[in-house]
Amino acid sequence: MNELDELYKQVILDHNKSPRNFGILNVYTHHAEGHNPLCGDEIDLTVQVENNVIKEVKFEGAGCAISKASASIMTTLIKGKTIEEAKILVDEFREIVTRDPDDEIDTLNLGKLAVFCGVREFPARVKCASLAWHTLNNALDSAENKVKIEKK
Ligand code: ZN
Repeated sequence: MNELDELYKQVILDHNKSPRNFGILNVYTHHAEGHNPLCGDEIDLTVQVENNVIKEVKFEGAGCAISKASASIMTTLIKGKTIEEAKILVDEFREIVTRDPDDEIDTLNLGKLAVFCGVREFPARVKCASLAWHTLNNALDSAENKVKIEKK
């Protein structure tokens, strides 16, 4: 394992241990739930969009380290982005994890998405890592466009 792989592994472990943006938003405009039956990962994603910009995003769920870390990293990447920018990130993410593991990827151009390059080497884990991103895509497409208030 090279130094870069080791660094990415640390990032995944860190996000798994202390997930960012964990929970459910009280007020949100977009929502989706995702389930990965292969591993048992589950995610509940709430997004608050204002003027086409993702103002707030939170996720809740249970699953393996990769699925949780991927959701956590995703929330940090999409906050403050427009819906279009977030969808581009979803496409870039898919492109990375479905690429042949033997393909050299220029990680410098990927920024924070580079952390997911290592996932390609574990095909069984691709669905775990993808769950949050698929769910985000569904949530953004759901366009409920009305503010929901849930009190728990
Ligand atoms: Zn999993």
